[in-house]
Amino acid sequence: MEYDLDSNPVDAKDRSMYTERFIHGEIYKLRPDVKVIVHNHSPSVIPFGVTAVPLRPLYHMSAYIGEGVPVFEIRSAGGMTDMLVRNPALGRALAQTLGSKPTALMRGHGAVVVGPSFPLAVGRSIYLEMNARLQAQAMALGGSVTYLDPEEVRSALLDGYQRGWELWKRKAMAQ
Ligand SMILES: [Zn+2]
Repeated sequence: MEYDLDSNPVDAKDRSMYTERFIHGEIYKLRPDVKVIVHNHSPSVIPFGVTAVPLRPLYHMSAYIGEGVPVFEIRSAGGMTDMLVRNPALGRALAQTLGSKPTALMRGHGAVVVGPSFPLAVGRSIYLEMNARLQAQAMALGGSVTYLDPEEVRSALLDGYQRGWELWKRKAMAQ
């Protein structure tokens, strides 16, 4: 469904509207570089939004996490809520938490991932989940974990997940 920047439907045609559309509208307002926004309830990232343990990059496919992953605390913006981004003010607060980063976790809820293209935003979403799972596994083994160095983060430039994108698209279209 197409919405304007204030998250009003262009033509709702009696369809029910996506409750958390303000996530998208308010981020597009603050981030002209962003063309695609993914919001998900990816389970493996949840622990990193509810503890003091930061999500850090430990895997070359998710090196972008090294740019930093802010955590959105909805209580700071809206007090007690049902955790959903149901209005423009909550969307704006989330967009402000995201700032210039590619992703932000949402405490007790999920994540938002942005990008200049579909392959980049989808790839970042997939590898965000994977990095979170791998980091929890690495930490559970005990001892210290070696994360990507900031220089490795800068060097690990990918092709924008182009190869993965072709595969993900084929899988999705086959369903
Ligand atoms: Zn949600």
